[in-house]
Amino acid sequence: MKGDQIIVKTDRDFEFYVTEDNQAECRSCGSPVLWCTTRKGKKMPVDPPTIPEVATTSHFATCPQAEE
Ligand SMILES: [Zn+2]
Repeated sequence: MKGDQIIVKTDRDFEFYVTEDNQAECRSCGSPVLWCTTRKGKKMPVDPPTIPEVATTSHFATCPQAEE
């Protein structure tokens, strides 16, 4: 839900919180993603957590068609 805190884990095993903003679909691969805002105000898409309170990952890390 919008405003929820989501834990994101990086490929270096560093974890940080982001705030959920809105649900969308990745424009490259069509997977559902959650757009979130970091504490620095930066927007990033993450994979929807399968279990609440468990860390997820940036969708940039898992997208089969990374769009960077
Ligand atoms: Zn994608």
